[in-house]
Amino acid sequence: MNKKYVYLFSEADGSYKELLGGKGANLAEMTKIGLPVPQGFTVSTEACNLYYENKEQLSDAVADQVRENIVKLEEITGKKFGDLENPLLVSVRSGARASMPGMMDTVLNLGLNDEVVVALAKKTNNERFAYDSYRRFIQMFADVVMEIPKQQFEVIIDEMKEERNISDDAEFTAEDYKEMVQRFKDYYLKHHHETFPSDPFEQLIASVTSVFRSWNNDRAVYYRRINDIPAAWGTAVNVQEMVFGNMGDDCATGVAFTRNPATGEKKLFGEFLVNAQGEDVVAGTRTPLPMEELKDIMPDAYEEFERHCETLENHYKDMQDMEFTIENNKLYMLQTRSGKRTANAALKIAVDLVNEGLITEKEAVLQINPKQLDALLHPHFSEEALKGGKVIGTGLAASPGAASGQIVFTAKEAKEYTDKGKKAILVRLETSPEDIEGMALSEGILTARGGMTSHAAVVARGMGICCVSGSTDVSFRGDKVRIGEREYSRGDYISLDGTTGKIYEGEIASEEATISGDFEKFMNWADEYRQIGVRTNADTPKDAQQAIDFGAEGIGLVRTEHMFFEADRIKLVREMILSKDEAGRRKALDQLLPIQQSDFEGIYEVMKELPVTVRYLDPPLHEFLPTKESEMQELADDMGLTLEDIKETVAGLHEFNPMMGHRGVRLSISYPEIAEMQTKAVIRAALAVQKRLDVKVHPEIMIPLVGHITELNYVKEVVDRVANEEIEASGQELNYTVGTMIEIPRACVTADKIAESADFFSFGTNDLTQYGFGFSRDDAGNFLNDYYEKSVFEQDPFVRIDEEGVGELVKIAVEKGRSTKPNLKLGICGEHGGDPATITFLYNVGLDYVSCSPYRVPIARLAAAQASIQNPREK
Ligand code: ADP
Ligand code: MG
Ligand code: MG
Repeated sequence: MNKKYVYLFSEADGSYKELLGGKGANLAEMTKIGLPVPQGFTVSTEACNLYYENKEQLSDAVADQVRENIVKLEEITGKKFGDLENPLLVSVRSGARASMPGMMDTVLNLGLNDEVVVALAKKTNNERFAYDSYRRFIQMFADVVMEIPKQQFEVIIDEMKEERNISDDAEFTAEDYKEMVQRFKDYYLKHHHETFPSDPFEQLIASVTSVFRSWNNDRAVYYRRINDIPAAWGTAVNVQEMVFGNMGDDCATGVAFTRNPATGEKKLFGEFLVNAQGEDVVAGTRTPLPMEELKDIMPDAYEEFERHCETLENHYKDMQDMEFTIENNKLYMLQTRSGKRTANAALKIAVDLVNEGLITEKEAVLQINPKQLDALLHPHFSEEALKGGKVIGTGLAASPGAASGQIVFTAKEAKEYTDKGKKAILVRLETSPEDIEGMALSEGILTARGGMTSHAAVVARGMGICCVSGSTDVSFRGDKVRIGEREYSRGDYISLDGTTGKIYEGEIASEEATISGDFEKFMNWADEYRQIGVRTNADTPKDAQQAIDFGAEGIGLVRTEHMFFEADRIKLVREMILSKDEAGRRKALDQLLPIQQSDFEGIYEVMKELPVTVRYLDPPLHEFLPTKESEMQELADDMGLTLEDIKETVAGLHEFNPMMGHRGVRLSISYPEIAEMQTKAVIRAALAVQKRLDVKVHPEIMIPLVGHITELNYVKEVVDRVANEEIEASGQELNYTVGTMIEIPRACVTADKIAESADFFSFGTNDLTQYGFGFSRDDAGNFLNDYYEKSVFEQDPFVRIDEEGVGELVKIAVEKGRSTKPNLKLGICGEHGGDPATITFLYNVGLDYVSCSPYRVPIARLAAAQASIQNPREK
């Protein structure tokens, strides 16, 4: 039997989403439950995939089945395609499995030509309507199928309005529309060098084909990438009998939600237009009326619509977003889907639906996209305030939140401003580790260079500070910065929206994130189902506290180097690095010890009995060194060295590829005294806090960048020796563990050996991705864009784990590690630990916990709960 590519609405139902797309499946489902849906058929997503397999050719099998189904539709409707008495007109509508609003366009009134339009006019006794429909068809067909920009036709419409001295489409007469049709066709011929196709079937096949083609247009590809939608899904095409909202004053068209999508309030919310069609409601050419007014204008249709709303909500058990058209007072339902909503509305609706008994707590947990919570966890501009804002540029939405303040160009200036109680926005070409302090003090960060995993982006996300990175609208001229059209000076006010990537002029009021009662209730439901721990990456007591407030159950990563950059210690760190011998290094380290110890004490005091994983020094040492000559001179004076000495050492530390250079465990092997100092600091801090607060502290010492068990063994011996001395001397008991990061491919494939010495593994998936692909993290941003543009990659492997490759390395390490130690504790501390898709993957691989920045903790909790519900672990 031939494969079936086309389904009548009456042949399918809501379960056909994969095959027929969301719109098609829901049209079938609405048909099945008896709602008034204009009938039609759906060309499947498989037909779309076949189209791409056939090098973008619609196969004959598909075209034949479309023709057969047109005949069936003619029987159902009693109308005929291209008929001169009772013509059938259809709409051609795209519809993928996941809703991609506005990504692919719709063609309405298909089946019209110079003869059919006369028949339509006669049959409806409404010439104006017939020609209005015809001109709309030409416009949409030209735009969607022939890619002739819609605006060109709008220009013609505007010209005609001017000639007639009218301002509203409603004032056009039948004659005007006739003339418009002619002008449109002339334009089409001129632009396309072909006359407008008059054969309805040819029009139909061209439209279906163009919907398939649009699946790979730039907008669609981009939308899929940011929404995790695979290209392999393909889109379906719906062909549906037209109903007309533009036939007169007893006609209308509109869109409505069963609940308010901004607030979640349980009340019909939407807009409609009388005597209009399709996109008129959203196009903004006429101002639509609020739904309540439909009650007065067409009470019967309104009442029926209200009934359908209730039916649909009860049926789908979720808030619905619907499209409808009223033709001569008769209501038709054209679409329903789960309505998009703000994060606050999503929470209110989920909690309300549980209270109303429509869904269970478990279903509520599955209903909200974890990524959406992000919007609730950062300050944001109030909608009111944004209305007055002037956008002067855009960049990457690198770290969410909203910030207003005065422009500063250096970390030092940020400090000066904030010391005076001013708010600073740090604007830089790009940031580097020495900017950390200034970054932390700033309200927001704007960079001209760097992608989503640039230093600025990663650090800002970690700190929960708003950041817009890689803005091509930003350039530097002397001591000014040009943003978009204008130059700005130090001290000028700008505002950043890290959630949208927009840059605004001046100050805009923002609101703090509030965790409402519904939010808390909802997160508690999620935690009931969650079977994997959620920790945080935090370097300061403040971040740790924030994470605990957001529900973190421990710290998965304390980056000790961040502490080294602060003003009071960077000098000591530099002295340590620049020392000519071990004695000199030890001298500097002795002074660093109490400082580092007190940092750890601060963190333990917040975390108390919760586990805290401290990573030993990781970055290449040159990152700590000064780059400016004045700073080098200062350092030389302090250390009794010459400027030349300093320059020589700095040059000596230069590395061709620092990412693969002298860093991680390699530092501890060259300079074990650093590991000694860090061990003393960790253990002494733990002992001190244990005693002070009378709690059991659980330090976990983590050695980074291990590739070979002998590397780990070398450092572990130092750690154990020093730790035991300290513990013995204290007379207290303390349980500490020593583990390693798994971030080098060699470590994954020898994980069974490494597990002999490691108490735990924590996957450093940023580095594992870098080394796994051989993509330098610092440089990948430059070429990965080409990958996306050319569809070589769909996803950024630094944001969502590459399951097939890097993920496989993780799997190997898990299996091998646990073959040596069945109870080996496994976690992740890379940036991926806050990505919902990656969390699902890691949960299924068997990790014990994920760790992410404080502001992502609630997102991780929800993603982990959803993964647990979908694939529960045996208790
Ligand atoms: P989108 O996905 O952009 O919403 P749709 O396929 O839903 O595109 O079509 C947009 C609009 O076109 C609908 O909201 C409706 O107003 C109009 N439309 C589509 N099909 C028909 C039809 N068969 N009869 C009347 N209007 C239609
Ligand atoms: Mg729609
Ligand atoms: Mg690393």
